Amino acid sequence: MHEKCGVVGISLSDRDAARPLYYSLYALQHRGQESAGIVTHDGFQQYEHVEMGMVGDAFDGPALESLNGSNGVGHVRYPTEGGVNECCAQPFSVSFKSGSLGLAHNGNLVNADVVRDDLAEMGHAFTSTGDTEVIAHDLARNLLESDLVRAVKATMERIHGSYSLTIMHDETVLGVRDPQGNRPLCLGELEDGYVLTSESAAIDTLGGELIRDVEPGELVVLRPDGSGYDSYQLVDNESTAHCFFEHVYFARPDSVIDGNLVYDVRRELGRRLWEEAGVETDVVMPVPDSGRAFASGYAEAADEDGADTEFAEGLMKNRYVGRTFIMPTQDERERAVRLKLNPIRSTVEGRSVTVIDDSVVRGTTSTQLLEVLEEAGAEEIHVRIGSPPIVAPCYFGIDMASREELIAADRSVGEIETEIGADSLAYLSIDAITATLDSDRSDLCLGCVTGQYPYDVEDEEHDREVTRPTIGAADD
Ligand code: AMP
Repeated sequence: MHEKCGVVGISLSDRDAARPLYYSLYALQHRGQESAGIVTHDGFQQYEHVEMGMVGDAFDGPALESLNGSNGVGHVRYPTEGGVNECCAQPFSVSFKSGSLGLAHNGNLVNADVVRDDLAEMGHAFTSTGDTEVIAHDLARNLLESDLVRAVKATMERIHGSYSLTIMHDETVLGVRDPQGNRPLCLGELEDGYVLTSESAAIDTLGGELIRDVEPGELVVLRPDGSGYDSYQLVDNESTAHCFFEHVYFARPDSVIDGNLVYDVRRELGRRLWEEAGVETDVVMPVPDSGRAFASGYAEAADEDGADTEFAEGLMKNRYVGRTFIMPTQDERERAVRLKLNPIRSTVEGRSVTVIDDSVVRGTTSTQLLEVLEEAGAEEIHVRIGSPPIVAPCYFGIDMASREELIAADRSVGEIETEIGADSLAYLSIDAITATLDSDRSDLCLGCVTGQYPYDVEDEEHDREVTRPTIGAADD
């Protein structure tokens, strides 16, 4: 089971953490709509509420009221194959000899099966197929023999792959980021406490201040009285593997990830897209919302170059069609694009247009959009994409579709251009991504655009059929 999610952990001095956790999960809703959960601790016992569905549906008044304690962790889970998966809703909580644990995980382990088998042989019984339970049992076992910091270190040395975790051990909340920092995790200060979360937008929502990213291989322990935090660099990070796709698509544009404001990154990628593959058309329009920042950077750079191009909205999005709107068949997926996006005729009719989106996965959106724009009277349609072709699946936390479903897995750009019916199609280069993120390829995970991964993956094991929600995220 692959965990594609948002996580949060909060410690406050003198008020219940449930409501701030709830607001944070709302801020992280785009990272997962399948289930939402909160686990708190009041110094005596652990409280838990985990339910399928969006945050607003999972927590009504009484549910929040019942979560006592000023420390807690929360989780939103991304939909995976089959849509609904009650077994793997999180945080995963367990009570054992040396206390209680609540774990929220974003990422994916590559050796979960091995660790699970070893633990099963030692007598551990598992109730789910998720990686998170494996981490919980390994940590529980290590906690029997050593203190919290040493136990986390031993678990970090045992598990391989990508993980950003918020964990509650009794009433102590901690955050851990894998040694390569694949998934984001950051630390913030609130008026009366501290917060660890996948994205800084959640800290803003609580009226707090982003302090910094949690470092790859670092453990941050929040003091349960909300007075501060302690940090331990537990595993040295020789090289990082930050996911570039967080910047391109997954994260909120108003979040700062690994030092970069996502909105600025997307605009810069748009500018570079113009420099690399600009085409002068009557109008430049984004695919809302995911293409918007790219399109504005692209149009700005075009304008600076003296291009006579108008930047306008040419597509209107039905905001009530979200990621949870999973379409089982290709036919339904195609219709769903039309349900989600409708053209604004005055922008399009009788004009040459450039349509900008962040990425192409299966090609469903682009193919359908082109038909829609053609029907609305567009004379020429040029497609520009703010990331390189996605040629391979993601095994580390973003549900991308299986290799066979990826339109670019076995087609050239020219072939894709013909298949989607564009007058021209161009993608951004990998070099533009690395230059924008000020990286030399080695510190990013570019697995989905290169097929080369920072961790060992066994294709047969992982390259499973994924029924990805194909019409984009709730905030697309
Ligand atoms: P597709 O229609 O399959 O080519 O998907 C491309 C559209 O889905 C683009 O508009 C992207 O913004 C969006 N997208 C990209 N990656 C994902 C993902 N992992 N989950 C959901 N939507 C995505």
